[in-house]
Amino acid sequence: MQAGWLSLLRRGGNLLRHSARLVPPSARAGTTTARARPRALSTVPALCSQLSKRNKSTSVNPDLIRPRPELASTSQGHNTLKVLWRDGEADEFPYVWLRDNCQCHACFHTSASSRLLRVAKPLDGRPPEGGAAGYAVRRFGVSGGPLTGNLKRCDPSKAFSAHLKTVFIVLLKVSNDGYFLTVVWENGHESTYETDWLNERAFNPRQQSIYNNKYRLRPELWDSDMSQRIPRASFDELMEDDAAVLKLLESMEVLGFTVVSGARPEEGELQRLSDRASHLVASNYGTTFIVKDKKDASNVAYTSEGLDLHCDLVCLHYKPCVQLLHCITQFSGDGGDSILADSHRVAVQMRELHPQKYRLLTDVLVNFRDVGVDNGFQYDIIARRPMISVKANGEIKTVNMSTFGRDSHFGISPKEAIGWYDAYLTFCDLLYRPENHFTFKLVPDEILIMDNLLSLRR
Ligand SMILES: [Zn+2]
Repeated sequence: MQAGWLSLLRRGGNLLRHSARLVPPSARAGTTTARARPRALSTVPALCSQLSKRNKSTSVNPDLIRPRPELASTSQGHNTLKVLWRDGEADEFPYVWLRDNCQCHACFHTSASSRLLRVAKPLDGRPPEGGAAGYAVRRFGVSGGPLTGNLKRCDPSKAFSAHLKTVFIVLLKVSNDGYFLTVVWENGHESTYETDWLNERAFNPRQQSIYNNKYRLRPELWDSDMSQRIPRASFDELMEDDAAVLKLLESMEVLGFTVVSGARPEEGELQRLSDRASHLVASNYGTTFIVKDKKDASNVAYTSEGLDLHCDLVCLHYKPCVQLLHCITQFSGDGGDSILADSHRVAVQMRELHPQKYRLLTDVLVNFRDVGVDNGFQYDIIARRPMISVKANGEIKTVNMSTFGRDSHFGISPKEAIGWYDAYLTFCDLLYRPENHFTFKLVPDEILIMDNLLSLRR
């Protein structure tokens, strides 16, 4: 499994946001808000080392790892190259994928880890001996050893549709040690693949499962019992220890929130903490902002009004991911509580208990709008998305819950609107069941970090 750090960097709309919204207006002293851009991992070499160790030690089930794969033989299928490994396993690689992923310097920029050419673009090159009328499978010495092996021929034009005809294979070579495969294409271009590289990308469920685990940690659905095991971290440890940062990021990816203790009750602490992970990304409220009760407030967060359970800035085309909220001063009497809920858990309940209403919430587009003036900057921002966003595979991506950010314009019929409200209110009933949220109170040295895509708060 890959580290949460990398996962956070992958999320294009990374946002580390600082505010003191959880402090009641009567006690607010103000804080700052900040938003983050991904930072190249190379800028934090110590953490890179930590991640590397973790990847090797825990990211992959050892039972799923083969020894260094050696090629035994290759053969050409209709549209795929068939590979037999020396451990007896077999894989297939589409020709067009092989051509698309040539690792030579003309096709791939190593330091940028980026593809340089589209697969359809023909490359200049000397046609291989024997021309394009057939292909050969032969073995060759890695260090200029003698060529050995047998030659096979066929008509490659049968293997490709017209728009892929630039990817004809005319020669296949496997190194004597079995660790390299070289493909010579019809135009003479030559691609060499290490077997480690090929095997990691094999089109089989085992290898794809390994990469799925590397892609991200699976979120854990939680209920009100989470109040007994709130994930916590130390501010000082996070500033000093990369392992602590990694643990924090993993916790964020799995549970969607963490409480950090030990911050100084003053502005600037969130900047210091967020600098350990990423760059700050601006929104229409800037990169940092102070939350306090304001006259003619541009956002209900700047008022004494109580807020519904919600996520933030749904109006933006990149709904913010990570937010940091620093409690600088806290109300000493009753009040000032925070409420957290796992929005994915409630969405799953909705899908299981009310599948038709769930479909309404995933299918009907809702307008989310933020209009106003803040610090002299005028904005009118609208995003249109369903209340529950799902991925192509049906998994829940995020819940877009914002009572104050949902617009009154609705692009559906009155009958459809009535049905949508029925579904929406059913979701709210589930959300506010006692077992689906918990209440706690931050103290002035604490920072609440939450994933705006996984959790709802009030
Ligand atoms: Zn190439």
